Amino acid sequence: MSAKKGKFSRRDFLKTAGTVGLGSVLLPLGSMAEAQTGSQTMVPTRPFGKTGVSVPILGLGGDLGLQDMIVFRQAFKMGVTYWDTADSYGWGNNEKAIGKYFSKFPEHRPRIFLVTKAATSNPKKLTDQLNQSLKRMNTSYIDMYFIHYVSNVKNELTDEVKAWAEQTKARGKIRLFGFSAHKNMEESLPAAAELGWIDGIMMSYNYRLMVKPEMQRAVEACAKAGIGLTAMKTQAAFSANFYASIGSDTDDALKLTEKFLEKGYTAEQARLKVVWENPAIASICSGMPNMTILQANTAAALNKQKLSWRDKQRLEHYAHQTASGYCAGCANICESLVDYNIPISDIMRCSMYYHSYGDRDKALGLYNSLPAEIKENILKADFSNAEKGCPQKLQIGKVLMKIYEDLA
Ligand code: SF4
Repeated sequence: MSAKKGKFSRRDFLKTAGTVGLGSVLLPLGSMAEAQTGSQTMVPTRPFGKTGVSVPILGLGGDLGLQDMIVFRQAFKMGVTYWDTADSYGWGNNEKAIGKYFSKFPEHRPRIFLVTKAATSNPKKLTDQLNQSLKRMNTSYIDMYFIHYVSNVKNELTDEVKAWAEQTKARGKIRLFGFSAHKNMEESLPAAAELGWIDGIMMSYNYRLMVKPEMQRAVEACAKAGIGLTAMKTQAAFSANFYASIGSDTDDALKLTEKFLEKGYTAEQARLKVVWENPAIASICSGMPNMTILQANTAAALNKQKLSWRDKQRLEHYAHQTASGYCAGCANICESLVDYNIPISDIMRCSMYYHSYGDRDKALGLYNSLPAEIKENILKADFSNAEKGCPQKLQIGKVLMKIYEDLA
């Protein structure tokens, strides 16, 4: 990238934007134009629980690499100053990319709400991984430090972890502490609310999950406890979209898209807007790997038009019609109904990365972190009881076998 400090050439911009078809998905949401012309229009902010910090309602997820400085730069300009990463993203390259940005624009560091994560509850490992993240990102502190993939609050957020968080805050290396949750959110959120020392949580939350009464109660408990909430996986991608039986994906998706386009926004933008309608959600963390998606999502964040009751009904109907392709992360249900140790929900996530996102590397990264014994258990297990108990009616056995074969 031929960028001078603080500036990117028009050629750089067109090169980056052109390769992904800028304009092809961006809808004419009026306020976007203002943001692009460099006026003061910025993505709005919301209080992050009772932490005293306000964050933009749209956060930049960790899909970017060293070559993507222009996306970081444009995100900053548009007020997308919540940047989320993890020590594992891109095998450390996402953190290194943020570090590269901060070395070019050190004056921007205090204006970024920087989040990173490590998947361990061991205090010694947390210290090592935090130090590595600080080094990679050319910074002396992290605004929000998460333990990654927490699914059992009692076992993973121990008194030792609490002491570590307090000491690390006192040393000025982290400002806030919390965790990310991809499964069992309905149990882990209320449990965190009772702990009294969790500042923030990032959890899967979208138009499919937010209508469930258990999830509504879980979010409410956190809001009452003053925990800042960030929604992820807001597009609710399919975990199992390769079966003809879930072919309703195509027809229903087409109808949904057409209806929203008539109103001036895409179905993807509508899925963001419905999450923002819950004031308890401080921010949405969204993977925005290019300018097209960054601009479309920013346009949605700037747009003040509310979804109608009918719009929300359309999303609910679509969620219902396509439920059997989406894993809701309620792992406590299915995993207890199989005789072998198999993290069904995690393997469903591999399937989502591979079959929906088309990201074999990400799927493999997660799949290869599972012990070989667990993969072999897929071949031995009988999933019929788990399938009967699954509220989404997923064909669990078939999905797991498919991912076993595809990622072998
Ligand atoms: S497979 Fe079904 S029961 Fe298991 S986590 Fe996914 S949605 Fe829940």
